[in-house]
Amino acid sequence: MSCSRKTRRQLWRRRLCGILSLNLALAPIAAQAIDVNAAKNAGVDISRENPLRAPNQQPEPNSLEAGIWSDAAKAELKASSSGERTPHRELETYVQSVVARILGVRSLEVRTYVMERPFFNASVAPNGYTEVWTGLLLRVQTEDELAFVLGHEAGHFMRSHSLQAYQEYKDRQAATLALSIVIAVAATSAAANANSIGAANNIMNSASTLVDVVYLGSLASFLGYNREKESAADIYGYDFAQTGGYYPRAGEGIWRRQIDETAASDDERKRRSPTRINVFGSHPLELERIEALRKYDLELNGNTQSTNTNESQSRANYRSRIRPYLASWLRDDLRRRDFGQTVFVINNLLIDKADGGVLNFYKGEALRLRAKPGDLDLALAAYLEAKAYTDAPVETNRQLGEIYRRQDRKPEALAAYKAYVAAVPNAEDAWIIQDLISQLEQ
Ligand SMILES: [Zn+2]
Repeated sequence: MSCSRKTRRQLWRRRLCGILSLNLALAPIAAQAIDVNAAKNAGVDISRENPLRAPNQQPEPNSLEAGIWSDAAKAELKASSSGERTPHRELETYVQSVVARILGVRSLEVRTYVMERPFFNASVAPNGYTEVWTGLLLRVQTEDELAFVLGHEAGHFMRSHSLQAYQEYKDRQAATLALSIVIAVAATSAAANANSIGAANNIMNSASTLVDVVYLGSLASFLGYNREKESAADIYGYDFAQTGGYYPRAGEGIWRRQIDETAASDDERKRRSPTRINVFGSHPLELERIEALRKYDLELNGNTQSTNTNESQSRANYRSRIRPYLASWLRDDLRRRDFGQTVFVINNLLIDKADGGVLNFYKGEALRLRAKPGDLDLALAAYLEAKAYTDAPVETNRQLGEIYRRQDRKPEALAAYKAYVAAVPNAEDAWIIQDLISQLEQ
């Protein structure tokens, strides 16, 4: 990738913004029962971690942290009024309730915004400004998993990881460079943060399609947390989830699915890239981290693995929370144009034998849009499956008609198109379909 001066500057802004929105901020809880020895036996050394932030701890005046907080406040203001913030306040309230459950009284130090962006990402800025993206909410399958991810982020915040990462980075750089970064953050982090997908597009020089911000993450990785901090945050995520009364091993499941989703990508480069759980440059997710979580659980429970006796109910409960948004989130996910991953996500949602109409319809959409050899037949099967459910979108018949038409199956195409027009005679595209019907009848 060639970098014009302008593009380089944008890169810097993204990197900075990454620091801000990385994983810092949630507020601590009364007492986290972290077992340093159990973590050590699981392969994670947290003995030299920063102390927990004090409740409502504010930065020292005129300190580096004060400057970062000030920038984060600007970014937060922008995000809170951004068009990408979900209009569904009940959804935000729900996510905030999970934060409250894991952080207790210290959740008051955190302000959570749900942003409608089709990528797996959660981040907490140093001042407590928190973003959770809808791409994450689509991929999480239980509230336990959401609690773990939020707890992981809270861990970064409570242990001042981002400030430390920033300080270490700054120490390595020439003062002038560091200064220019601070200025760039002050000037642009808010705007960049509020429009990250657009910014990603600019950076990657791609005009026509959404770029996977995973790549942005690798560009910005030098500002991310190191492996030790990520592993420590996993331990905190486990502990926060447990403190909130959640199934503490949920983290293993969500992390494993993220790795599997990387492997399901249509894009070979992405399949070969490390899995990232935060678009702003966190350390890659490796299998060792999942193994450490498993060992930590064993250590805490006298060599007996925790089990979840309530999993199907947890899945059903969480699905009922996200059901109203499934269709629009899946539509957004298609914009990433990684249809292998979209199908992977949908197949995981289909395990529950619910929402079969919506899920199979968007599976059909992903396969139809990918259009590899054999995909059209698979799309047809998915649309037909969708039709068997009462929640099939009305467009299912239109898409069936389209595939039948392409396959020269006139009678089936006509029947499907007619069913569509009959169901929604005032649809915007009804006249187009009517036109196709006329052509087919000639
Ligand atoms: Zn992290």
